[in-house]
Amino acid sequence: MNKVNWKFDNTYSKLSKSFRELIKPTPVHNPEIIIFNHQLAKNLNLDFSRLNNEELSNIFSGNVLPKDTITLAQAYAGHQFGHFTMLGDGRAVLLGEHIDNNKNRYDIQFKGSGRTSFSRGGDGRAALGPMLREYLISEAIHALKIPTTRSLAVVKTGEKVVRENLLEGAILTRIASSHIRVGTFQYIAATQNIENLNTLVDYTINRHYPELISSKFKAFDLLEKVIQVQIDLVINWMRVGFIHGVMNTDNMSISGETIDYGPCAFMDHYDPKTVFSSIDKFGRYAYSNQPPITKWNLARFAECIIPLIDKSEDYAIKLATDLIDNFQNIYEDKWLNMMKDKLGILGKDKDDKKLINDLLDWMKKNKVDYTNTFCNLMGINSDEVFKKKEFINWKNQWNKRSKLNNSTKEKQSKIMAENNPKIIPRNHKVEEALSEAEKGNLDKIKKLLSILKNPYDNQNNIEEYKIPAPPSSKKYQTFCGT
Ligand code: AMP
Ligand code: MG
Repeated sequence: MNKVNWKFDNTYSKLSKSFRELIKPTPVHNPEIIIFNHQLAKNLNLDFSRLNNEELSNIFSGNVLPKDTITLAQAYAGHQFGHFTMLGDGRAVLLGEHIDNNKNRYDIQFKGSGRTSFSRGGDGRAALGPMLREYLISEAIHALKIPTTRSLAVVKTGEKVVRENLLEGAILTRIASSHIRVGTFQYIAATQNIENLNTLVDYTINRHYPELISSKFKAFDLLEKVIQVQIDLVINWMRVGFIHGVMNTDNMSISGETIDYGPCAFMDHYDPKTVFSSIDKFGRYAYSNQPPITKWNLARFAECIIPLIDKSEDYAIKLATDLIDNFQNIYEDKWLNMMKDKLGILGKDKDDKKLINDLLDWMKKNKVDYTNTFCNLMGINSDEVFKKKEFINWKNQWNKRSKLNNSTKEKQSKIMAENNPKIIPRNHKVEEALSEAEKGNLDKIKKLLSILKNPYDNQNNIEEYKIPAPPSSKKYQTFCGT
């Protein structure tokens, strides 16, 4: 098998039993590879070109494990919609960490690979639709230049999974810089084993923040780093109108990658209260709640490592609280800069916030598409709504502001083109592609994937992919498909 060039290391398996259960994927009856990410394989320096579909199916179902893997399910906990639960990989196994030619380390994980000791009542399996959805959206988020886990393959298992209906079973191969979550720290903290907590901090720093290895204040510095990467992440989501949908602490990665694509979706018309997930009854994870929820999750992370921040608990709490309390200032600064980039305006002006908020208010009041508004400002969308007087007046203000600080049209266009996607995964297009794929026709999902690969480019003949779903009486809803 090593013609593929797997280079497995298994550092997570060497951590103590509290961190994981060694377990193999449960073999499946009739695996069939459905989609495979050749480009990603190449980036990982893996070569599957000499394998036929049967061999690929066997590998990516877990029926034939690559040499040197030590497969395991990771333990973690999480606040799910605010309630603390001990969780763990209930339907996933980590094969190990593959090391690419540049010595980058990537977790290779199967999702939907069978029961583990963390499965609770679940069957350990996943359905085809949700796994393809994760594949599609994670690849789209990557193309939008937002940190994320990636998707290497989806295999149909040839077995049915029981949900509300009988569905096709499937396994997704997920690639992540690691699967260490806020919830991983919560799990270890809940066991009250300081030695393990220290181990986890060291392991995380070695893996993600090696610049902190010789720090005298590792836990404190780690908290500061995680705050930074999470602010950058949520700013990126806000930039493109992405709504994660289930920002539980077990779905927040310490590396700052977007992880766990369940009921996520992109906002079409601008409304800060937008929620798509059918189970998010109170809008906890609504578009505009994502920053405060990020902060809330970071506070849960801080609580876990308090004992390592300082010997004096009071002092440690003060230090951590000061960091967390600064979230809002950093976020607001970065948000303002991000919005200025979307508008292509340089430098600072006292009225910038007002200019931005006036535009957002107009979009909200008139239910105007978020992505397409910025496309209009880039001169590539001329929908009727943008001929409204109120908008033209706003545009005049924006044009005046655009000329300040030695800006030029060229400079402005370049910044805007880098920050405003011309295409996002439109909800109705995603649904259409997935429902066709579930019937066995992959043409639509492949086409959608290929268009979403270059969201910042001008592509021809993709008008139908730019139009938001027609307003219908039924609100778009996503389901926590498992
Ligand atoms: P998620 O909502 O996907 O983040 O999952 C939350 C928790 O439920 C994780 O611990 C999962 O491993 C577990 N889980 C989700 N679906 C299943 C399933 N079908 N079988 C077992 N565990 C599951
Ligand atoms: Mg999860």
